[in-house]
Amino acid sequence: MFMLPELPYAYDALVPTISADTLHLHHDKHHAAYVKTLNELLAEKGGETPESLEAVIRDAARGGGKLFNNAAQAWNHGFFWGAMSPKSDQAEGDLRAAIKASFGDAAALGEALVKEGAAHFGSGWVWLVSDRAGKLSIKSTHDAHNMVAEADATPLLVCDLWEHSYYLDYKNDRKAYLEAWFKELPNWSLAASQLRAATGTGEGWRYPAPNGQDSSSTSRAA
Ligand code: FE
Repeated sequence: MFMLPELPYAYDALVPTISADTLHLHHDKHHAAYVKTLNELLAEKGGETPESLEAVIRDAARGGGKLFNNAAQAWNHGFFWGAMSPKSDQAEGDLRAAIKASFGDAAALGEALVKEGAAHFGSGWVWLVSDRAGKLSIKSTHDAHNMVAEADATPLLVCDLWEHSYYLDYKNDRKAYLEAWFKELPNWSLAASQLRAATGTGEGWRYPAPNGQDSSSTSRAA
């Protein structure tokens, strides 16, 4: 059974960029529902407990469908919570150099992310990703799709483009949400450790393993 990880900060920690009401709904209702449905689908399917959510996503990616959608949405939200931080820091060191080489500077990266996310049609996610060589790019994916089954794309950051992530706070103005998000919330420490993982030094972010196998995470049953 997969767990719903606790938010890594208080519900009001991202105010005013994201309200406590939005975080309560988004985490306690939307993310929780994906985890609940995922567990129900796995129980219906029977068989052994999967070793990881990443393995479920890779297996289900070929077939698509409900199991893939719920597994990937559970993963995407877990990563999204970690990709935000209440303290606004900056990209430094190797990450800063990679941003410079790939975009010019952080402002240009932000413009590319906002442009891609605002132009994305319908629900989905906008990602900052790195290939194995440390070349960064912006990608958007539809609905639940993510980078877990991609051979050479490690996510550094992600921003949720589903309306439930911004409608209470920004109504239909997705661009304003994206601009505020990029200015205030990216967790550059996570992005830096993901870049190390992409280029072969270190472990990438993983969703908490099922049945509380990952004792380092604080989780509760969904
Ligand atoms: Fe969402």
